[in-house]
Amino acid sequence: MSIPISIEQKPRPAEQATHIPCVDPATRESLGEVRIDSPEDVEAAVARAKVAQQAWRKTSFEERRKVLRKLLAYTVDNKDEICLTVQRDSGKTRENALMGEIWPTCEKFRWMINNGEKHLRPERVSSGLLLHKKARLEYHPLGILAAIIPWNYPFQNIVNPLIPALMAGNAIVLKPSEWVAWSSAKFIDALRSVIEEAGHNPDLVQAVQGYGPTGAALARSAVDTILFIGSVNNGRRVVEASAERIIPVVMELGGKDAFIVCDDADLEQAVHSALAGCYINCGQNCVASERILVYDGIYDAFEKRTAELVGEFRQGSSREGLVDVGAIVTPLQLDIIEKAVNGAVAQGARVVTGGKRTLSDKGDYFEPTILADVKPDMDIAQEEVFGPVMLLIRVRDDADAVKVANGVAYGLSSSVFSKSRVRARKIVAGLEAGMSSINEFGGVTYMAQDLTFGGVKASGYGRMNGREGLRSMCNIKSVVDDRFPIHQPSRVFPVAKKDYGVFSGVIELIYGRGLAQRWRGFLKLFSREK
Ligand code: NAD
Repeated sequence: MSIPISIEQKPRPAEQATHIPCVDPATRESLGEVRIDSPEDVEAAVARAKVAQQAWRKTSFEERRKVLRKLLAYTVDNKDEICLTVQRDSGKTRENALMGEIWPTCEKFRWMINNGEKHLRPERVSSGLLLHKKARLEYHPLGILAAIIPWNYPFQNIVNPLIPALMAGNAIVLKPSEWVAWSSAKFIDALRSVIEEAGHNPDLVQAVQGYGPTGAALARSAVDTILFIGSVNNGRRVVEASAERIIPVVMELGGKDAFIVCDDADLEQAVHSALAGCYINCGQNCVASERILVYDGIYDAFEKRTAELVGEFRQGSSREGLVDVGAIVTPLQLDIIEKAVNGAVAQGARVVTGGKRTLSDKGDYFEPTILADVKPDMDIAQEEVFGPVMLLIRVRDDADAVKVANGVAYGLSSSVFSKSRVRARKIVAGLEAGMSSINEFGGVTYMAQDLTFGGVKASGYGRMNGREGLRSMCNIKSVVDDRFPIHQPSRVFPVAKKDYGVFSGVIELIYGRGLAQRWRGFLKLFSREK
């Protein structure tokens, strides 16, 4: 399987630009502009973060929790304003802003406040053969986290890495997407003010704004670790930058999630979950259900029912009334979706509903679309679409479903729908994915914060969320400590003639096959043979 991927997103002319023009994609109203940070500005931000982190790393868990509680209170108290700001910068619906940005963020705060310390306290582990010693793992902050983030969840993408970074004692420098620079500036300013009011240096959290070169400058700066959330092409560049200084990275890249509907699935449950998986946030989700693999026996009924429901969707700006789906965040993404759909139709896919741009006099919209008769080897079934497009792919049986599901370069999330738990678990076990849901759409794992989030194959590596995500922002230090106040040296030098024989006996005694070999090992401990 070749590593993709999709049409390269060409940066806007960034070399000579000094500001980013910001636009509401639902109405094309100008929102103003945001100043671009130069590479020198990036270096200065990282230097300020280093100073702030030196004090922050010494704070107690209780103090960190106090700050997180204040940030949570800010989020809850200002949720309506945050939603409106998100809506204006991204064109998403009001309901999606609340349920896709505010709710998961609040849940993440709650989880971290309740569980963070438990996962960061020094942890006693077995000292193995070192019976005279104790062993523990300690979780120390790494220093400065660079978080380079995309445009699909302007608020959540900021707060998500910020919560574990602060809990683990790190500072964070964020590079928000150029497409949502306006809202990101407002959110990061507000979060900094909360930190300052709580009595800490606001430089713990900073933004550097700009296009790709600003992200590249941050990746090459003196940060200690990088979280990159974005496209495969840019992820590869960030990995190259991280390799120069040998710093750890977490890569959260694209997806082409399979959503498998077995012939014994509950039709209404599968249909409604597929609608959520395909059309939440207008499909601009890394864990969107990009490929619906439907068994022959249920295919026609599934297509008919989804078409009925999608045909009733209302689309537009939430500021003008109740809508089900909103706009596409970037005009570039709109081009990508249109090209992918036209290409699929040219390759033989059938448009069930939608299939084209809409409301073009108002903003950047693409109709909620269903494409049927999609074949697994079509371009649209291989490349990430990141738009409101449901692909229906016919599969024969469990083995065929797993083969088709795994036949892409990505492996982020996945779902299986069946009334048989045994069957669903068996299918899930065969899926090459970082996450799987049974009888739910893939994105739902995000609401169980004990679970980690991340992918395999071209979807990236490393994990966000949960214990593993939190600890990925730590220097996990292994410490061997005294068990008794006995100061007997472990003498290795000078090497004695008997050493080889004694240790050969020790190895046979401990690891020998059967009693006879172990007994021989035991005797060697006292042997005079060299
Ligand atoms: P993108 O790669 O174009 O941009 C992501 C960020 O990287 C932006 O801030 C951008 O300015 C910056 N950037 C661009 N060039 C860079 C470079 N050379 N060096 C460093 N930074 C650079 O991605 P996007 O279009 O903003 O987001 C869409 C992609 O993100 C999709 O592929 C989607 O699947 C993926 N995504 C993944 C997850 C996940 O958790 N796995 C979540 C959301 C989005």
